[in-house]
Amino acid sequence: MLDNLQLMSKDNLRFNSKAIHGGQEPDKAYGSVMPPIYQTSTYAQSTPGGHKGYEYSRSANPTRTALENSLASIENGNYGLAFASGLAAIDAVMKLLKPGDEVVSTNDLYGGSYRLFSKIFEGFGIKFHFVNMENASTIEAHINKNTKLIWVETPTNPMMNIIAIKAVAEIAKKHKVLLGVDNTFATPYLQQPLDLGADLVMHSATKYLGGHSDVVMGALVVKDKELANKLYFIQNASGAVAGPMDSFLVLRGIKTLHVRMQRHCENGEAVANFLAKHPKIEKVYWPGFEWHPNHAIAKEQMNGFGGMISFVTKGNDYKEAIKIVENLKVFTLAESLGGVESLAGHPASMTHASIPKEEREKTGVVDALIRLSVGIEDKNDLIEDLDQAIG
Ligand SMILES: *Cc1c(COP(=O)(O)O)cnc(C)c1O
Repeated sequence: MLDNLQLMSKDNLRFNSKAIHGGQEPDKAYGSVMPPIYQTSTYAQSTPGGHKGYEYSRSANPTRTALENSLASIENGNYGLAFASGLAAIDAVMKLLKPGDEVVSTNDLYGGSYRLFSKIFEGFGIKFHFVNMENASTIEAHINKNTKLIWVETPTNPMMNIIAIKAVAEIAKKHKVLLGVDNTFATPYLQQPLDLGADLVMHSATKYLGGHSDVVMGALVVKDKELANKLYFIQNASGAVAGPMDSFLVLRGIKTLHVRMQRHCENGEAVANFLAKHPKIEKVYWPGFEWHPNHAIAKEQMNGFGGMISFVTKGNDYKEAIKIVENLKVFTLAESLGGVESLAGHPASMTHASIPKEEREKTGVVDALIRLSVGIEDKNDLIEDLDQAIG
């Protein structure tokens, strides 16, 4: 119910306060500070249609509403929508389109997004152009009268390229094309795409927003009421909604987002610098380095450089990379990212295995590439762990 999603006075606060208070008010029944987990599918009516704003929990649920209002607040949007997963959120965006429509997408993309686009929506007659967007003007060559959406992921996964959202937004506006930004890696703490001209922001809330590796969830945030209505219709009609317990967990996660992100950035910087100086490491990809090709844009559109780092060992040796991820003791070898604990992944065989090898290697995802999600442990333990694993 879009009417439940309303801005409140607390939405004018600064980010660190909005993470805690944005879109929130004490529960109406007993004043509980956190919203109860309304674990219910349906709601009593006094007369047909006589309800208190909630009829059926696919359409709306008060715990989910509390989260959706928080999401809208921290992304500086007007409407938030919570989905069963990040991919369910992207799926809802794609359902705005019709057969014959075209999408210009970032090429260095989360593997699951690539699989959804190429294996599901191409089959429904939607055409995708996967484009290196480091130079925003290259996008224009792929826009034609059928183009309806530009899909941006920045920093890109796992190569940590930075795409200039403002420049892409100008192109999108000029051609009257919708711009969606997957803000999973940066989070609204580091980057606020709606303020830079994007029409919608998407999250895998599974990652930093949830922050504790205990929930799978997706989110969309928009400013425009008409677009919100269309997405709300799809959310309800297709039904991939976030459950009340999961909504509670992500809302709890968001309340410490700013504190966690500060530490992710601090630890990320320490680990990136350690790797860059290590004699056995060939390349380190992290947007905070002055020599990173898109560092200037990162500095302009981000409030920090985050804790996501990728690196390749000297000699680009596949076996060496596998040995390192197996030897890690504090870092856990696992899919996913953005939790309080440090994780290491091998994109070629894990997150990006659904992308064909030739496609993968074109963007730099070689077999020896290792991706780190640097957590919020003591940075010295993380560095010592990497040091012993690299050997
Ligand atoms: C994980 C992830 C997704 C998919 O989200 P799920 O919650 O796993 O469905 C999309 N984009 C990015 C950048 C991700 O990291």
